[in-house]
Amino acid sequence: MAVRGRFAPTPSGRMHLGNLMAALLAWLDVRSQGGVMVLRIEDLDPQRTSLAWAQQLADDLRWLGLDWDEGGLEPDWRQSCRGAYYQAAFDKLRGLGLVYPCYCSRAQRLAAGAPHGGEEGGAGCRCLHLSPAERAAREEAGRRPAWRVRAPGETVTVVDGHLGPYAQDLARDCGDFILRRSDGVWAYQLAVVVDDGLMGINRVVRGADLLPSAPRQAWLHRLLGHPPPQFCHLPLLVDESGRRLAKRDRDLDLEALRARHSPQELTGYLAWLAGLLPERESVTPAQLIPLFSWAKVPKKEIVAPAP
Ligand code: GLU
Repeated sequence: MAVRGRFAPTPSGRMHLGNLMAALLAWLDVRSQGGVMVLRIEDLDPQRTSLAWAQQLADDLRWLGLDWDEGGLEPDWRQSCRGAYYQAAFDKLRGLGLVYPCYCSRAQRLAAGAPHGGEEGGAGCRCLHLSPAERAAREEAGRRPAWRVRAPGETVTVVDGHLGPYAQDLARDCGDFILRRSDGVWAYQLAVVVDDGLMGINRVVRGADLLPSAPRQAWLHRLLGHPPPQFCHLPLLVDESGRRLAKRDRDLDLEALRARHSPQELTGYLAWLAGLLPERESVTPAQLIPLFSWAKVPKKEIVAPAP
C-alpha cells in the first residue's frame, strides 16, 4: 500500500522550531518510503486562524525545502471549508446513538474536567441525563449546546510506530469529548479523523503532545469505517531548563530564525537534534532522505540549545 502522510498545521501564528521539526520528520518519513505528502490546513477556529497565516506557513515550508504532492491552500484542503464532511460524520455518530447535546458553560466544563481531559472532560457531564423537557427549557432560554460523543468504557491501545504501545480507557481518561462547540465550530478530534480518513492518510507523524489524542482518534476512525493510520509521535523539544518550546518564544519562530539562518543551517540543526547527523552541518532536507530512520530519533524529550 502506498504511503500517504501529511502536514496538518494550524495557521494561528508563525511556525516555531517544534512545528518545523514535526514537518521535517513527517516529510522524511514519507519521502524515505517513496510516499505521497499532503498539506492540509487546520483552520477550524475563525477566531484564532487566518488564511494569511496559512500562506505564511506554506511559504516557510517551501523556504526550508519541504514540498507536498497534494493539498495546499485551496478550499478543499482547508478545514474551514470542509464542514459538510464533518456534518456527515457527525450525523453518522448521532445515528449510532452516541451523540448528545451539552449545555454546560465553559466554566462548568473546566470544573468537571476529567483528569487528563481539561475542558474536554465530560465524564461527569450531567447533560447526558437531561429529559426532553429539560433540554427544551434550555433551548427556549436561548442556550446553544456543544455536542459530545459518549466515550466507551473500553481500553483502546494504539501501537505508536516510534513510542510503542499507548493505552487509554476512553471513558475514564478522556470522558465524553466534544465534537462540535456551542458556537458551531467543529472540534479538532472529529475533523482530523474525518480528513485523515477521506484523504487516505496512513501515516501520521506529529509531536508527542498529541499522543493522548491518538486512542480517541483510532476509536473514531473505526466507528466511521476507516482503518486508523499508523501514528508516529516525536518527542517534544524543551529548552535547557526543561521547559517546552512554544509559540510564545518569539526568538524561535520562523521570522526570527529566517533572519539569522539559512534553510540548510536550520535543517542541519534540526537533523542533529533528531539524531540524524552526528554534528551540526548545513544540509538540505533531500540530502537527509537516505539518512532517515526512526531508530535514530530519540524517544525522550529533546533538549534544544539555541540554534
Ligand atoms: N493541527 C495540529 C497542530 O498544528 C496538528 C494536528 C495533527 O497533526 O493531528 O498542532
